[in-house]
Amino acid sequence: MANTDFPLIFERSKEGRTSYSLPELDVPEVDLDNEFDDSFIRKEAPDLPEVSELEIMRHYTALSRRNYGVDSGFYPLGSCTMKYNPKINEDVARFEGFSHIHPLQHPKSVQGAMEMLYDLQSSLKEITGMQEVSLQPAAGAQGEWTGLMMIRAFHEANGDYNRTKVIVPDSAHGTNPASATVAGFDAVTVKSNEKGIVDLEDLKRVVGEDTAALMLTNPNTLGLFETEILEMAEIVHEAGGKLYYDGANLNAIMGYTRPGDMGFDVVHLNLHKTFTGPHGGGGPGSGPVGVSDELAPYLPKPVLIKKDGMYQFNYDRPQSIGRVKPYYGNFGINLRAYTYIRTMGAEGLKKVSEYAVLNANYMMRKLESEYVLPYDQHCKHEFVLSGKKQKKLGVRTLDIAKRLLDFGYHPPTIYFPLNVEEALMVEPTETESKETLDGFIDTMIAISNEAKDNPEIVQEAPHNTVMKRMDETTAARKPVLRYTPEV
Ligand SMILES: *Cc1c(COP(=O)(O)O)cnc(C)c1O
Repeated sequence: MANTDFPLIFERSKEGRTSYSLPELDVPEVDLDNEFDDSFIRKEAPDLPEVSELEIMRHYTALSRRNYGVDSGFYPLGSCTMKYNPKINEDVARFEGFSHIHPLQHPKSVQGAMEMLYDLQSSLKEITGMQEVSLQPAAGAQGEWTGLMMIRAFHEANGDYNRTKVIVPDSAHGTNPASATVAGFDAVTVKSNEKGIVDLEDLKRVVGEDTAALMLTNPNTLGLFETEILEMAEIVHEAGGKLYYDGANLNAIMGYTRPGDMGFDVVHLNLHKTFTGPHGGGGPGSGPVGVSDELAPYLPKPVLIKKDGMYQFNYDRPQSIGRVKPYYGNFGINLRAYTYIRTMGAEGLKKVSEYAVLNANYMMRKLESEYVLPYDQHCKHEFVLSGKKQKKLGVRTLDIAKRLLDFGYHPPTIYFPLNVEEALMVEPTETESKETLDGFIDTMIAISNEAKDNPEIVQEAPHNTVMKRMDETTAARKPVLRYTPEV
């Protein structure tokens, strides 16, 4: 169907129109049909749009204006840490010494880049309290999988083949049970108690000789700090299991406490969240893993080391789980994280956690009069509200999220975590001003009032966006991913 108000680039095409001018051909023409095996030759030109350079510019500029990002507005998407990405990171990532090197260059010729990676590893060891760090994993979920594969290798090296279960609280991030399954374990759920943290009695019930590990998201997806971590660590270690810390949301604790000090054996971090790698839209991430001494032999190889004053990749790691990512991780994202850590300094990183937690608590307390707060406790970097009061008026959480679009906000995460009815998971992040937080609070309260006085306006939202309410079920079940020209 032709899109009349915003034609696709294909629909703008006019035969013969071009956006390039090439010099005359100055090499002899070759008759491809006779020179090469016929089957390699494409007989018809690909069906590309024929448009002028100006049309291309206007098309993509217009498209980009329809985009929404942290640089355009408030983005309180719970668990995703959509905070500001300082532009100095981008400047540093564009230094020629970094941007013009090749990943396969001889280590001797890229000592500066390797030193940067090595220093980043050292900083992350300090921040997490772990003994060794690998920068290889490309995202949080891959870090989880890498960590679990190391735990598996550890148990197998001890002849412990019966540890097939990974315990995952019901308040864990969704990737945790998925990673456990992909790593070949059975994910076993442990329940939360009425305070919203792991129920120790239930943990004692599920832990046993078949426990490979407990995977803990902390703060959990309710934004709550697991206050009984030391007890949990003891229960799991006593049973011979290992402790995995999902540190994707380190912005809640950084500078105040460390997974290593709590007794964890493996931790992963999301450098694209807490450490300001730009993310969203599936861009590159970085999910380094940190390990205790006991698990260090199993780290992915190569391991970046410093020896005789030189930075080197050590491949001589017989117990390694192997390589998990080509080259040595996503260099550009690691470089941005390094820049961030160096510009913030130790005190600055501590302030990040302070403000992230302060902003979330401020907002939570301002909103609890209008929205149900299912777990009434101090939160960390994020909090979860329930829209069940509004649902009684016929306005669902989905409607509230859509109505926020009318006011120019990216909605919070909705319907997650699963243990809260009509959940709204809000993460303001530390980079937002009080004015921005107040603006969002006022809007949320205004929407709650609309739900009482004028529910249709919320139920039918959005009204002010380019696209109105979309059929998300059809979009998910029958996505149209390819342009097929009309004939
Ligand atoms: C974002 C997140 C993950 C997954 O990270 P990806 O980089 O998206 O794979 C895992 N755990 C928690 C707690 C997260 O917030």
